[in-house]
This record gives sequence, structure tokens and C-alpha cells, in this order.
Amino acid sequence: MDNAAEQRAGVGDWTEPGVYEVSPGVHRMPLPLPMDALRAVNVYITETDQGLVLIDGGWAIPQAQELFISGLKELGYTQRDIQRFLVTHVHRDHYTQAYVVGQETGADVSLGIGDKASLDVMHSDTLTQDPNVDRLLQAGADEVAEAWRKLFEGHVRPSTDDYGYPSTWLDSDFTIDLGTRQLAAVSTPGHTQGHYVFADIQAGVLFAGDHVLPTITPSIGFEPAWVEQPLKDFLESLVKVRALPDMALLPAHGPVAVSSHDRVDELLAHHEERLQQCVEAVAQGASTAWEVAALIPWTRRNRTRDELGPFDQVMAAFETLAHLNLLALQGRLSSEDNGQTRLYRSAPFGIS
Ligand SMILES: [Zn+2]
Repeated sequence: MDNAAEQRAGVGDWTEPGVYEVSPGVHRMPLPLPMDALRAVNVYITETDQGLVLIDGGWAIPQAQELFISGLKELGYTQRDIQRFLVTHVHRDHYTQAYVVGQETGADVSLGIGDKASLDVMHSDTLTQDPNVDRLLQAGADEVAEAWRKLFEGHVRPSTDDYGYPSTWLDSDFTIDLGTRQLAAVSTPGHTQGHYVFADIQAGVLFAGDHVLPTITPSIGFEPAWVEQPLKDFLESLVKVRALPDMALLPAHGPVAVSSHDRVDELLAHHEERLQQCVEAVAQGASTAWEVAALIPWTRRNRTRDELGPFDQVMAAFETLAHLNLLALQGRLSSEDNGQTRLYRSAPFGIS
């Protein structure tokens, strides 16, 4: 098989550059990421009566821009044919290139209103420290917090040249009428607060962004703005997507998968197992998210917390914190703040 045929059969390397038709009039275009374990991001090009509508835009780096232009050309289009970008969420691998092209061509760029708080933080003049430091301190990951603080010292504000505000904010659930194609825009907070998925129910395809990924579990609560219960939001959004008809899963990272329902079920089961592991770790005496993270396995290879790379340790701290805070909300654990650090126990605090 050539690569295109392999891609259609789902056996090729999904990151291989090119454009691959995944449904009539829908093309998957993987674009590279710099220094990222996710390896690539899928941009989806949909052909409509009203021109091209793109789901996500990729990360604004020169290498991705070249492939973006050549991918469109392969389909007989230029950037000027893009009417609209529907960006699933504010993370730079999805948003920045859409923003840059939008600035250049006037294409509409839309983003969920829930991500406005994070953009506001990034554009704030009064920020003195990366807000993720506070979250790491709450998790009791003091050393990681210190390393993170140092990393961002002197450049708290990332460049906003490719990270401005969108032209349109998406709010609540609604249908986008594209003539021959109707897209259900479904708000799915969790991975970030403004995350959206887009469903063409007629065609049976779900543009899932990072809400439902086929081979990895989406990170939770990695966003500049503070969110109290990102896992609760994420699980509720999974249930919401599970209530839609079963569709082909078109993810932002990874190959296209056959069934959105199957993958949502796996993710729900995964998080229930993780919640249970957290309960057991606290029963064994771990009291902070960072301590709990040392007692539960990480990645498909069952690594320990200390075997993870620096960035993954940050993710692990956030992830564990989100699970523990949900358990506390559900009454399955109790919690108490001790300075900046949050402590958890099996029994209520105040009873020894
Ligand atoms: Zn992503």
C-alpha cells in the first residue's frame, strides 16, 4: 500500500505529512510540533458551499506553515479560500496558526468563550508569576514549582504576537449552518474551559479536538487561568459526547478511530480507576497530590513519578490534584488547606 492507502486503512504513521480524505469533503492534515511528545497535530479541512472551514490550525512555526500551504495546494486551494477556523481550544498547537492566518487573510477565527480567562491572563500586565506555580504549590510539588518558576523567570508573559484574541467567541451549544453541512458545536469544558467539539452527525464524524484522543488520555487543567474542578468538567463533557450518536472519531492527535462511543467509555473507565487508585494511595498515608502521584503508575509503561521528565511531572501533579479535588467534592476523601498546600485524608479532618 502507498501511504495514502495506508492512512485510509488506518495502519500508516498518522504523523506522516500530507492530506488524507477521511470522509467525503473532509481532509486530515497532520502538522509538526516543535519539542512535543504529542508528535503532530491534525488540522481538518472541510469543503463547504461557503468555502473551506478548518477545524484547528496547528502551531505557528515555519515548518508547519509550509506544510499548511502545500497541503491546501494539493487540494487546489490557497489560504485565501479559508472562510473560517473553528478552533477546539486555546492551546498553542491548535490556536496560534489559525490566529496568524486569520490576521493575514481575514478568515474568521473562533474559540470557546471559556478560554477567554486564559487569554486574559496571558495578556495581563499585572502578572508577576506563572499561575501554574500556585497550582504546583497546592499539589505539594514544591521542588517542581521552584523549577517551573525559574524556567519562566523574566518571561512570564509569552509573546502574544501569534496569540491574540479570536474574531468570534463561541458560547453554549448551537448548530453551524454550512449549507450542505450542519455542524453541531458542542461545548466540552475539561481539557480547557473553552474546549469545543464539532459534530457532523449526518456524515457521522466527530471533530474531537483534545477532548477525546484515541491513544492517550487528554491532560486536565493545564491552562493559565485557575480552574477548581477541571476533572469534574471533563467527565461531564465526556458524558455529554457519549449522548451524541456514535461517530467516527477525528482527533487532534493520533489516527482516526472508528467509534467515539468506545473511546469515551474507555476514558470514563480509566478515570474511575485513577480515582480509586488515588483513594487507595491516601489510605496508605499519602497526604498531598505530589505524594499520591508517587504511589500511582504513570503512562502506559507504568513509570513511577520520579521516572517522568520535568514537563510530565508537572502534568502528573495537575492530574493528581484534579482527581483528589474531585474525590473531596464527592465526599470520598476529605481535604484541608495548610498554607498553600492542600492535604487529603480518608477520614474527616479534626478526627484522629
Ligand atoms: Zn493538543
